[in-house]
Amino acid sequence: MMSSEEQGMLRQSVTQVQKAAQAYLGQNPTFPEAVGFVTQIHSAIDKVVAIAVSEGTQLACRSGCSHCCHVRVEALEPEVFKIARFLQGLPQAALDQFTERLEKHAAAVDGTTLTTHRQACPFLENQRCLIYPIRPAVCRKGHSLDVQPCAQGADTLPQNVAIIAQSEAIIQGAASAYRAAGLPAGGHELGSAVLAVLKNSDAPKEWLAGDVKLK
Ligand code: SF4
Repeated sequence: MMSSEEQGMLRQSVTQVQKAAQAYLGQNPTFPEAVGFVTQIHSAIDKVVAIAVSEGTQLACRSGCSHCCHVRVEALEPEVFKIARFLQGLPQAALDQFTERLEKHAAAVDGTTLTTHRQACPFLENQRCLIYPIRPAVCRKGHSLDVQPCAQGADTLPQNVAIIAQSEAIIQGAASAYRAAGLPAGGHELGSAVLAVLKNSDAPKEWLAGDVKLK
């Protein structure tokens, strides 16, 4: 729980990020520009984590550890489009495999909530993320300082407050900038949202027009 002073600092950071993101996106970004901006969001969060680690934060997260890939992951519209675009660039057989995997996942998580969602992410295979370079912002900011609570499925994890607060400011500020440009930007269950985009060729056009259904 953040103190009122920390909440005030977070709001200030969100506003700063929003201004910078609005300057980058402008009022009327094209689809490639709007989706391309996701790279900036992800790089900024990666930098926050790298700085914390360089200053001595010891993350318990290791390659092959995937406890946090079994909870609900939410992604913003432009992140969903970025992942869908990547999948659409794969050979047809691979795209079909992903689509089938996403359909099974969407059926399994339908009706679940943040607390009841305990399904493996559809992009997890052999404890590895198949879309690691383009994984959503929440996966980049997510971390733990101790693996035990993760393994026990604890509701709260020991985390670095600066990583969480700064990453959240980046995500919220960027989402506000998208919305200021008329582009919906909110949190959507990752697998179901990617599937919705794969099944709707008009989704990019609808997003640019300010109304897209991602479920
Ligand atoms: S996108 Fe990758 S990192 Fe994020 S939950 Fe899925 S498998 Fe894990």
